[in-house]
Amino acid sequence: MAANRLLIIDDEPAIAALVAKVAKTCGYEATIAGSGEEFQARHRDWTPTHVIMDLQMPGLDGVELIRFLAGEKSRAQVMVMSGFDARVLESARRLGTERGLTMAGTLAKPIRVADLQKMLDGLKIPDQVIDEAALRAAIAGGQLSLLYQPKVRLDNFAVSRFEALVRWQHPQRGMVSPDEFISLAERVGLIDDLTREVARLAFAQIAAWRGQGHEIEVAINISGKNLSAVDFADGLARQCEQQGVQPGWVTLELTETAAGANAADVIDILTRLRLKGFQLSIDDFGTGFSSLVQLHRLPFSEIKIDREFVRGCTTSEEDRVIVRTIVDMAHNLGLTVVAEGAEDRPTVEFLAQHRCDLCQGFFFSRPLAADKAVSWTDGMAERVAAGKALEGRAAV
Ligand code: C2E
Ligand code: MG
Ligand code: MG
Repeated sequence: MAANRLLIIDDEPAIAALVAKVAKTCGYEATIAGSGEEFQARHRDWTPTHVIMDLQMPGLDGVELIRFLAGEKSRAQVMVMSGFDARVLESARRLGTERGLTMAGTLAKPIRVADLQKMLDGLKIPDQVIDEAALRAAIAGGQLSLLYQPKVRLDNFAVSRFEALVRWQHPQRGMVSPDEFISLAERVGLIDDLTREVARLAFAQIAAWRGQGHEIEVAINISGKNLSAVDFADGLARQCEQQGVQPGWVTLELTETAAGANAADVIDILTRLRLKGFQLSIDDFGTGFSSLVQLHRLPFSEIKIDREFVRGCTTSEEDRVIVRTIVDMAHNLGLTVVAEGAEDRPTVEFLAQHRCDLCQGFFFSRPLAADKAVSWTDGMAERVAAGKALEGRAAV
């Protein structure tokens, strides 16, 4: 993901396209939303660092968009533009500031390209801020946080398991996705610190939920590199004990490639993790070259079908065959099967019909903040009771 991501909303396509063009010449990645709904969706899944909005829109107007951004606790730098007089722009700017947004500037329409260029150049975030020193500071300084995505049972739509996904709340860049820093952590030797911090946050959340009466189990992702530390299992078990969490409430997700590195040391650590009571899950299954039989020799309890195959379920016969085969074979080997990346109802129905145990994906929910995860679960129970579990996100 680029360091500077500008989300543009304007109902006049020509103006939006002009802004995007200028932004690209200034070094931004730019995306245009044609409607308020699209704006909200893009803001959630793309986490722009900058937003530029037209105040007058036929659907959601600028004031409503500002309210939405404030509700989302957006850290984007917000610019507003309008053909109204300067006082309207100024009051929108003040409103945003009062609601806690970073209001970065105003532009009167018709826009002058030179003004826009100057503003965008001035607001750019330098690109070199994701490096070893910054990551080290982030881990030590509490800038990492977790989002939780439900794993929904497909036989009764019960939700008691979540996958914890790490995010970096960067002081300048805003929310940074793990794709941008996990491999950095692995490269520079920070992955053990990172995993320890993720485990600490996840265990604290499990304990807090249990304290409130929610018997939720959480999966965390671990890196193959973590398995080169011989004391990994002991360290994690100690963390559990210190935080009042039973290892049985914790699943460790490990990618197929990391797990498949059949080295004696890896088998040793995985076996010890199981003996201590942790559940083990093979993540992104199907992308590597290991066979299930090979992996079955390792002490895994769950397998997650990679989202590439799940995505293809509704369009490709080949992907359907792959998914069905993985489910059947995994069941025969006594493993629980999770499908990840299910984005629409036909996919979920296909998975349920073929007895996939659990399903995780945007159709049910995006990764959520901890408090939202619990209220989402309560809402899900109500939807199940009302026979509306398969109405997906639209019903949330
Ligand atoms: P993963 O473990 O396979 O996690 C699932 C990823 O798929 C998440 O991306 C999630 O947001 C995304 N996803 C879920 N449902 C859907 C869907 O329906 N459609 C699409 N297109 N995507 C969906 P995220 O959070 O960006 O994480 C990416 C990867 O980063 C993870 O893949 C995992 O390998 C790694 N990661 C995340 N958190 C951690 C962590 O704490 N430690 C380590 N070592 N790796 C982590
Ligand atoms: Mg995972
Ligand atoms: Mg995965």
